[in-house]
Amino acid sequence: MLPDQHILRIPGPTPIPPSVTHAMAQPMIGHRGQEMKELLQTVKEKLKPIFGTKEDILIYTASGTAALETAVVNAVQPGEEVVIIVTGAFGDRFTKICDEYHIKVHKYDVTWGEAADQDRLAELLKAHPNVKAVFATFCETSTAVLNPVKELAEIVHRESNALFIVDGVSCVGGTETKMDEWGLDIVVTGSQKAMMLPAGLAFIAASERAWKVIEQNPHSRFYLDMRKYRAKLREDSTPFTPAVSLLQGLKQALALMEEEGLAAIYKRHNTMAAMTRAAFHALNIPLLTKDADASPTVTAVKPNDFSSEDLRKVLRTNFGLTIAGGQQHLKGAIFRIGHMGYCSPADVLQTISLIELGLQQIGKTIELGTGVKAAQANYLAELSLV
Ligand SMILES: *Cc1c(COP(=O)(O)O)cnc(C)c1O
Repeated sequence: MLPDQHILRIPGPTPIPPSVTHAMAQPMIGHRGQEMKELLQTVKEKLKPIFGTKEDILIYTASGTAALETAVVNAVQPGEEVVIIVTGAFGDRFTKICDEYHIKVHKYDVTWGEAADQDRLAELLKAHPNVKAVFATFCETSTAVLNPVKELAEIVHRESNALFIVDGVSCVGGTETKMDEWGLDIVVTGSQKAMMLPAGLAFIAASERAWKVIEQNPHSRFYLDMRKYRAKLREDSTPFTPAVSLLQGLKQALALMEEEGLAAIYKRHNTMAAMTRAAFHALNIPLLTKDADASPTVTAVKPNDFSSEDLRKVLRTNFGLTIAGGQQHLKGAIFRIGHMGYCSPADVLQTISLIELGLQQIGKTIELGTGVKAAQANYLAELSLV
């Protein structure tokens, strides 16, 4: 095995484009100087189309979970009622954060591997008329489900005055997100998933409706106070020392995204998901989610006649390929392949090809090339549509 080759196909952190790595190695700059001002001016505008909003995108030096907590502490007060749509481990994280802040949670538990249902949400909102916010996960990374946030937003606004708060950490930048048009009140994401950066930046945007609530919320918060970040961003600055190198990388990542074009990026992700799914369908290995609920950024596979953990181990030791396992009760039951950010159909072909070799090595009989062929056919069909 080539000692320095690591093929990382987990749903975050994801590989970094060489030009972004290079940008992050630039000399340090002062965070109160003119260079930083210009950098922030550039990145703050280029982030907006990725969220589909005209609102400010606040940038925190923090992991994605801090962005979830930021949404909670700014938009809700202790004692208030919320609905949390739990489709997996990340929806569950919202409940843990709200519990910690003594917020009254009505959980809408969805079977892991399925998407949230609009009618069920409508019933819950009818039953709890005092709900101040509804939380959902856009791509539920733990199950590879893409929740229909546009449709869920319609229900929230039809049935209540609640804010609709969306965790987009594992898909914003890789899947179409129209915050303003769809009526999403708060959208958050992190840097290490579809944004092609290392972990360490969190992004958060709020609608006008949400800002009214945030501005008047008397609940304590300091580092996470969105009001501070917005006031400073308007002066092209940050309230605290930002992760300067990550911001230099962000500028380059956004330049790459602009060059490729958002429509092409979303299409690439859809193609990669379709290729991956076609491969496992052809190999007759079950997927956790049905096609209609599938995320463009990650695929979850639920084998019934071999061990996910054995496969992951063989792939890692023999080929330097890392794929993810399951979380919580799905640990050991599934494996997950990340195909987001700096990842192309060519990478998907490599991944599937290595997985086929790994399957042979753990003793599952397959015909080599079955999955690759299906993925190739899928890719070819996409290419001829251009
Ligand atoms: C990765 C992820 C997070 C958490 O991000 P951290 O950077 O690990 O804190 C939150 N939500 C979703 C959907 C994620 O995929």
